[in-house]
Amino acid sequence: MLIIKEIKKIENQLVKLKKEGNSIGFVPTMGALHDGHLSLINQSKKQCKITVCSIFINPTQFNDPSDFQKYPVTIDQDIHVLTQHKCDILFLPEVQEMYPNGNVISKKFDFGALAQTLEGEFRPGHFDGMAHIVSHLLDIVKPDHLFMGQKDLQQAIIVQKMIALSNSKVLLHICATEREESGLAMSSRNSRLNKEDLEVAKDLYACLLMLKKQIKKGALKNEEEAVLTGKNFLEKNTSVKIEYIAWRYTNDLSPVRNDMHEKSALLIAAWVGGVRLIDNLMI
Ligand code: AMP
Repeated sequence: MLIIKEIKKIENQLVKLKKEGNSIGFVPTMGALHDGHLSLINQSKKQCKITVCSIFINPTQFNDPSDFQKYPVTIDQDIHVLTQHKCDILFLPEVQEMYPNGNVISKKFDFGALAQTLEGEFRPGHFDGMAHIVSHLLDIVKPDHLFMGQKDLQQAIIVQKMIALSNSKVLLHICATEREESGLAMSSRNSRLNKEDLEVAKDLYACLLMLKKQIKKGALKNEEEAVLTGKNFLEKNTSVKIEYIAWRYTNDLSPVRNDMHEKSALLIAAWVGGVRLIDNLMI
């Protein structure tokens, strides 16, 4: 695996590979890689000749400085697993390389309500930083295919919109969420959970499964009803602090209102043991 830290170098390398007719798949990450990330690498390997992974902990998408400070860094281990999975190129820039003028968000998009609700409401500015860096990375890598996780469903929906707004031809693949045996969605932040927290955290997915079952039975007809039932279910865990439970249409993330003809998803964000966790489930 080639490890490249400079923008100019990776651009030159990729121009060469594209001239030779190789399709390029791209998996942007913030490192501390787990099987969720590796499933994206595997998808890219299946569909593309060359797979590029980036590891960059993007400072501008952290609305909470202590979350940024505590974000796990396991770079040697990451390089090891990427090599094992036959990733072709790792792009590993320093902050200075991606933000030569300080942490300035120079690329702003208008995502409207999509970016103001859910994560946008609880993490102000998060999507501005995320969209800026993904757009910058796409300009550098110019992939044919982009692989992102359904785990961050709102992020994937916003990136899809960004691709449309920029008239880009990259194909976004939203890949299934990888889970622990307990059902807990894999996340780099899970490494900060202790044994008791892990026991509690698995109830987030259990809650989503329970709500889906009720919806399929016709017992819940709109977001309001789903939120009430979800909160009741999680109430027994006094150590879970729910930020939101939502049932949204996936096209515009507006609340489901007694109409299940459109595609929808349940989404949840909650704090467990000082760690903020998110998850979702398609209906
Ligand atoms: P992150 O390193 O958290 O920024 O995530 C990098 C990419 O991996 C994003 O597209 C995430 O949605 C995706 N991802 C994170 N966790 C999972 C998971 N459990 N299953 C599948 N993809 C995931």
